[in-house]
Amino acid sequence: MAHKAGFINIIGNPNVGKSTFLNAILGEKLSIVTSKAQTTRHRILGIYNEENYQLIFSDLPGILDPHYKLQEKMLDFINQALTDADVFIYMVETGERKYNPEIVEKIKKSGIPVIVVINKVDKSEEAYIYKEMEYWKEVFPEADVIAISALYNFNVDKVLNRIKELLPEHPPYFPKDEISDRSIRFFLSEIIREKILLNFKQEIPYSVEVVIDNYKEEENLVRVSAIIYVARDSQKNILIGKKGEAIKKFATQARLDMEKFLGKKVFLEVFVKVRKNWRDNEKDLSRFGYEI
Ligand code: GDP
Ligand code: MG
Repeated sequence: MAHKAGFINIIGNPNVGKSTFLNAILGEKLSIVTSKAQTTRHRILGIYNEENYQLIFSDLPGILDPHYKLQEKMLDFINQALTDADVFIYMVETGERKYNPEIVEKIKKSGIPVIVVINKVDKSEEAYIYKEMEYWKEVFPEADVIAISALYNFNVDKVLNRIKELLPEHPPYFPKDEISDRSIRFFLSEIIREKILLNFKQEIPYSVEVVIDNYKEEENLVRVSAIIYVARDSQKNILIGKKGEAIKKFATQARLDMEKFLGKKVFLEVFVKVRKNWRDNEKDLSRFGYEI
């Protein structure tokens, strides 16, 4: 049978049970890594592998949250998610009957298959659960609506099976059964991106690209060297900061996360280089791993 692989974006308010759900799915199958690395593109939470399947779960932190004030940024996130998801999981918990109509419209228009997952049904009566399902079926008439209890592992396999049906045929995006050098480099660069995202204002994170140009495991230490490409001198100056304070700060944060991730001491070197208009340059793009 042909291999299927794809990205599953989970959206849902804080506390609905996204992490519990993923743990239930991934369990021992988490053969790559769980990364907290958060980026403007993906925040990969876990990768589920089977012989013929690779499911890559990401989430969009907090976008349904009514406190999310930056409407524009939220729509950015949604648009981003809509361009790179193969399947959407829209997760709610029983009793939750609020939604952002604008987001729901966008999701529907995208044509990407949606699974509405109603979690925590262990807390509700059966009759009530049917009403809940009907309610969400009206909001998303085209979607599958599945009621689960992530905590008690009820119907989680049903969601999993439905995802498998919906995924496109595609070779694996990541190595199937081991943490490879390639995936390690990917996650290390994501860690640096996350720290840049946390430490600098919008313009900077959107214009950087991080490349791990050297990765070497020694007995008690891992040596990592990263190049951060920016488009302008001014951005380079901001990243480095006065007397190198800015770069020192975010590189230290990144190093500490890398040490947690790798379980080893890390010696991290970070360079900032200016490469004008890298976004327009095809060679650069393919070097950075975009498919073009
Ligand atoms: P997240 O913020 O969406 O990732 O939510 P978490 O997975 O961290 O879960 C938030 C809380 O809900 C935790 O206390 C979980 O134990 C609880 N929880 C998650 N799934 C279920 C469920 O199926 N039933 C019940 N009763 N509680 C759940
Ligand atoms: Mg969580």
